[in-house]
Amino acid sequence: MTYTFRVSALAAEFGVHRNTIRNWIRNGSLPARPGPGRQYVMEWEAYRALCERYGRSPRPGTDRVKDPAMLQQMAGKADLPPVFLGRRSPTFTESPAWIESCLACGSCAAACPISGVDGLDPCRIIRMALLDLEEELLATDWPWKCTLCGRCEESCPMAVGIVGFMRHIRSLRDRERVPGPIHSGVTTCLERGNNLGIPEQDFLALLDDLGRELALSCPGFTVPVDRYGARLLVTINSKEPFTEPDSMKWWWRIFHEAGESWTIASSNWEGVNWGFFSGDDEAMRTIVGRMVDNLQRLNCSALLLPE
Ligand code: SF4
Ligand code: SF4
Repeated sequence: MTYTFRVSALAAEFGVHRNTIRNWIRNGSLPARPGPGRQYVMEWEAYRALCERYGRSPRPGTDRVKDPAMLQQMAGKADLPPVFLGRRSPTFTESPAWIESCLACGSCAAACPISGVDGLDPCRIIRMALLDLEEELLATDWPWKCTLCGRCEESCPMAVGIVGFMRHIRSLRDRERVPGPIHSGVTTCLERGNNLGIPEQDFLALLDDLGRELALSCPGFTVPVDRYGARLLVTINSKEPFTEPDSMKWWWRIFHEAGESWTIASSNWEGVNWGFFSGDDEAMRTIVGRMVDNLQRLNCSALLLPE
């Protein structure tokens, strides 16, 4: 059994500052782990020990929902073995989302901007997971239509981790069945450093051309490629050099006028991480790692992502 809390609520409960709670979590004296939304979770025993340390009683009602012994006591059946409602798919219970706290209130569906499109309904998806309709969920395209915008999660009174769960479902699908453009974008990025496979020399030639054009109205302007020690590392959505190269110049003009210290890496400059959208954590990690490598190689202190 676990206890879910927000840092601010726990701080108010125990009369300490929020930073005290954060420090406890950071140094391990409060054994809590990140949960859905902005919540944390700890084992019920850890919460009870904390209450004892502060001479408090656990908050009324916090031990009711998931404690089988308590449920049996309430039902006057304390001598029976624990009873769990329904079976949970081992695949889904490994998910970071705590779908079992869903109230079926429908707030998520009301908040979702694409609710109803081809039958997508976040509430239905969570309920299907609760009913162990795993195969059906993996087969449907709903998680792929979801934009991962997070509005559903923001409106959820139980802070169910809907976005993480959508990604989790995506991650469980065979890679061959991931929608084509997303999957090919990930593999192309891993192989060639950007989602559209633009060769480095073409990219650098384009930057040079655009820089010359901008210099007509911004005297002395050049595109700062691989400038060591620049403050800001600018990453790029590969569709810009591919289809809308002029749009990059507006950013550059602002940087120039503002006197910003910035640079673009000559390789691995892609800023759109489709590993995130495809549920491919390994690819996402690799792509993020390349950005970090560029930050370190060029000694930049800030990163600009295009999305
Ligand atoms: S994250 Fe997906 S399900 Fe949630 S509101 Fe956005 S589009 Fe809808
Ligand atoms: S808003 Fe939260 S509690 Fe309500 S139906 Fe959606 S997931 Fe369940």
